[in-house]
Amino acid sequence: MAKVYFMNDRSQSLETSLVAKTTTLFDKAEFGKMINPGDVVAIKLHMGEYNNTAYIRPVYISALVEKVKSLGGNPMVVDTTTLPYSPFASRATALDHLNTIARNGFTQGVLGCPVVIADGYIGTDDMNIDLPEGFILKEQYIASAIGLADCMIMVSHFKGHPMGTYGGAIKNTGVGCASKRGKLNLHLGGHPTYGLKNRPWHDQLCTAKECPTWELCDNVCPVHAIKVLDTGATFDREKCIGCLSCVGVAGVCGVAGFPDDYFDVTAAAIADSALAAVKAIGGPEKVGYINLALDISPWCDCVNFSDRPIVPNLGIFASKDPVAIDLACLQKATESGGMPDSIAMAKGVMDPGLPKLTACGSMMGISEFIQPNVGAKIGLGSKEYELEEVPPLEDPQPFLFTEVPPGIKLAKTFTKKGDIYPEGGFKAEKEVDIEDMR
Ligand code: SF4
Ligand code: SF4
Repeated sequence: MAKVYFMNDRSQSLETSLVAKTTTLFDKAEFGKMINPGDVVAIKLHMGEYNNTAYIRPVYISALVEKVKSLGGNPMVVDTTTLPYSPFASRATALDHLNTIARNGFTQGVLGCPVVIADGYIGTDDMNIDLPEGFILKEQYIASAIGLADCMIMVSHFKGHPMGTYGGAIKNTGVGCASKRGKLNLHLGGHPTYGLKNRPWHDQLCTAKECPTWELCDNVCPVHAIKVLDTGATFDREKCIGCLSCVGVAGVCGVAGFPDDYFDVTAAAIADSALAAVKAIGGPEKVGYINLALDISPWCDCVNFSDRPIVPNLGIFASKDPVAIDLACLQKATESGGMPDSIAMAKGVMDPGLPKLTACGSMMGISEFIQPNVGAKIGLGSKEYELEEVPPLEDPQPFLFTEVPPGIKLAKTFTKKGDIYPEGGFKAEKEVDIEDMR
């Protein structure tokens, strides 16, 4: 039976700050036991696409960096290069990724430790992991800087996801720790049955050079599998590696479709890839998972926007088991009512007891249980879990910015500078009409 620790998102004091709750759960789940003095500790998170606004705020990570340092660990914040996913990818090289996340607030100066794009400049710095246990993938490629770390704190934003149906610990581990070629693999690139090279191509829908985006379409594919001729767009199946760059162009007009079961099988491959990442770093005892179920947007932080959350904030979760922690989040989302005027209302899943992510997250209504079901089947984690609600810390002292009280700290400077309170007081009316004001 896996343990999942939970604190809700209510906060009315220093002790119940969500940042304090995050580090409280770190301690409750005993993540410190993974860290020996001098250990390189990878803190893995998704730092948000360009103009996404729902991603995890840097302050949570800064606090975890301080926590790791206090235990003698050597922290680094990590993420990986992406597949293009769209015609204008902003994290597909390490250079672009670092520029994007700096705009989102993630820099060494903010976090207190280096940010490492763990699969290198173009996503090929990786480790090949043999995966005989895999449900569909039998090998996977994991970013070197993650595989070579001594242990990992996996900090995941729980929310919806167009392909995985939801994003949580399994997805942040499976997709987020995979190198670029690992991401191609888990998106079934080149797969003989489910891969995009097998997708339907409805060329009768193409308006060729009458199409307002034909030049973009002609230039979107990094391996030149799509060409737009005077007669329409052509698709060279053999060349297609499944990078998804074209989905926002030829997919939108309806010419490029998806193979049957593509989304279901991709969700399963995400769990396979998560197991590969755990193996790469040295086994389940080397990874601790924190899920922040806050700002639960219907789609992932990898899109350039963030819709209204589908349910209110659920809280913060911590566990050593990625399957259990994700199921606990899904359970809480199901138990919750939906958010007024969100896509949950449009999809008719406002009532408590209705699964929210299947309806609101997936592009295709794929089951939210594929990732955890496959994860349990391949030994990534357990579907049996006990959810323990954790009380807040009683001693807020570690979260005080300074221990010097104002009477000492500021009295001295006021005495020296001497102009904060004007002689004779501030100019103001002695009394005002209170009723008029109201
Ligand atoms: S495939 Fe679609 S986007 Fe591309 S040129 Fe044809 S109509 Fe335009
Ligand atoms: S045709 Fe294939 S390789 Fe080319 S952009 Fe589309 S998915 Fe990527």
